[in-house]
Amino acid sequence: MTGLATTPVTALKGVGAALAEKLAKVGLETLQDVLFHLPLRYQDRTRITPIGALRPGQDAVVEGIVAGADVVMGRRRSLLVRLQDGSGTLSLRFFHFSQAQKDGMKRGTSLRCYGEVRPGATGLEIYHPEYRAQSGSEQAPVEQTLTPIYPATEGLTQQRLRQLSEQALARLGPNSLPDWLPTEIARDYHLGPLDQAIRYLHRPPPDANLDELAEGQHWAQHRLAFEELLTHQLSIQRLREQVRQQASPALPPAKRLPEQFLANLGFTPTGAQRRVGAEISYDLAQHEPMLRLVQGDVGAGKTVVAAMAALQAIEAGYQVALMAPTEILAEQHFLNFSRWLEPLGIPVAWLAGKLKGKARAAALEQIVSGAPMVVGTHALFQAEVRFARLALAIIDEQHRFGVQQRLALRQKGIDGRLCPHQLIMTATPIPRTLAMSAYADLDTSILDELPPGRTPVNTLVIAESRRTEVIERVRAGCREGRQAYWVCTLIEESEELTCQAAETTFEDLSAALGELRVGLVHGRMKAAEKAAVMDQFKAGELQLLVATTVIEVGVDVPNASLMVIENPERLGLAQLHQLRGRVGRGSTASHCVLLYHAPLSQLGRERLAIMRETNDGFVIAEKDLELRGPGELLGTRQTGLLQFKVADLMRDAELLPQVRDAAQALLEHWPDHVAPLVSRWLRHGQHYGQV
Ligand code: ADP
Ligand code: MG
Repeated sequence: MTGLATTPVTALKGVGAALAEKLAKVGLETLQDVLFHLPLRYQDRTRITPIGALRPGQDAVVEGIVAGADVVMGRRRSLLVRLQDGSGTLSLRFFHFSQAQKDGMKRGTSLRCYGEVRPGATGLEIYHPEYRAQSGSEQAPVEQTLTPIYPATEGLTQQRLRQLSEQALARLGPNSLPDWLPTEIARDYHLGPLDQAIRYLHRPPPDANLDELAEGQHWAQHRLAFEELLTHQLSIQRLREQVRQQASPALPPAKRLPEQFLANLGFTPTGAQRRVGAEISYDLAQHEPMLRLVQGDVGAGKTVVAAMAALQAIEAGYQVALMAPTEILAEQHFLNFSRWLEPLGIPVAWLAGKLKGKARAAALEQIVSGAPMVVGTHALFQAEVRFARLALAIIDEQHRFGVQQRLALRQKGIDGRLCPHQLIMTATPIPRTLAMSAYADLDTSILDELPPGRTPVNTLVIAESRRTEVIERVRAGCREGRQAYWVCTLIEESEELTCQAAETTFEDLSAALGELRVGLVHGRMKAAEKAAVMDQFKAGELQLLVATTVIEVGVDVPNASLMVIENPERLGLAQLHQLRGRVGRGSTASHCVLLYHAPLSQLGRERLAIMRETNDGFVIAEKDLELRGPGELLGTRQTGLLQFKVADLMRDAELLPQVRDAAQALLEHWPDHVAPLVSRWLRHGQHYGQV
């Protein structure tokens, strides 16, 4: 039996060292990899359509005789080839063409071509069709199956990918590619044979239902999606087990510090804060590591909950690390924790990437010698940061951290033995389907109550052409003693351009609103400068703050009740919701203006309408997931997490409960099937394996 899982791609005809290297770059190393590199969609080239029967918008194979080929001038110079087959005339149009190409399409030449038919200046046209001259009486056969279109892969043409899959399919059979789904499971969940599913998806027969395939509703797709989700579930469960097997310091419930803390706080915790606090406190008292996600909408008061947890660890004599994704948010936490903890005699240490030289060395020294409370950014993950007695790691705004980074924390435990408890806080509500997979390794607590006195934000969607009106609105609001944010969004992924735009906007608004005190804060300013501006804004010395999305998370100025967001169409809904959460924190009615650039796409309009219609983070997250997919919602595009090959969490949501049961059964009765499944679906165990 030749196992395709172990046969290298070099076993295929035409694959030498150079091509193998290219293939390895995109994860295609074995014939199994080639077979699991599935088409995204299909073209139907199985029949020739008479020209007279063509419809605009159709992709079609057409055959005919060239009746003439001329270079025409029009708006752009192009080569226009008229093709006839007795049923009608079709024009092929080429905007880029060589002399040789033109010569090859002389009057009388027989051509077969393929492309999208569209209405054009001369009737129906195909722009840049794929084409081939037919020689003499010999008719090339049409395709016998639908033509697969594979995910675009750098340096590899579709033709090449088809040749490779063709050869791999020739070797595919039930013996060369073991089916790791036990027959009992396949039977219970009506899953067809693996090899047939793979063969079908690479080369669907001419009568295959393209709509069904496009919607992912074919049995072959279900079969593979099930296996993929199952594998994902198995790898998370394995990871979770590994974590649970580690020991953490058991931290007894604290008394003295929380009492003092609450007495100084100036408000009483909400019922939800108390409940979630108690859940965390219970977990911390166990020897098993806590892995808990606290989900609470913007402004729900997660920081207080985090502080209570920190005090339990500190009172027991251990260290706590609090990490935030941006420097500005980390600073905000640093200030809050300093304000809360220092009166209790607990110093707070600070570490961020920008801390250099002596200051950095001093911070590292404090941490290694046991500073009880450390606040910082990703810098806390770096290898040279050593903790003396780290018992609790708190991560704010989890959606920006990869699972990998979260796991790296475990190495920071005590003597490499005791692993810190983990508390993860996020304002992005996790839709149920995602929670079941992306966060399956976490327990969840929900802060479902906002502190009293919050007012819902009234959101307006306004076109950029009414900018002057919006500026007047800002003037009026500030005159009445309110404060406002003016947010500039990311331009083409470039922080530099974005900051420049913020500077320009700052100058324009300062000029237009001469009587107001206007401030500017963006990502390229020094930490101290940013902090100074934020402090002025907090103190009410600045009335209008022009900012980039650095203010997205954590910033808290209750008197700010107006926010203008420029080009909101560039942001995800969850991010817009986070931003908007900066207003509506005081008792005055708050407004958020989404100042969009016309024209908006249909999708863009729908998205902004959702923002206008609801203030409920959960509804927004569900919609965002529907419209954009899970990768973007969780900010995990780059980390590769949740990039499924076949499965789609929204579409296949109803499979998830079955998948969970099947995973349980497999772990219990067929544990030796787990490793081959993981290596089949997760490249080098990349997602979760590296622990
Ligand atoms: P988030 O959950 O978005 O991180 P924060 O922890 O920043 O929210 O809290 C938002 C604001 O609400 C802060 O000013 C905080 O001090 C305040 N706050 C938190 N809990 C309460 C409470 N129980 N009563 C009144 N205000 C509270
Ligand atoms: Mg927060």
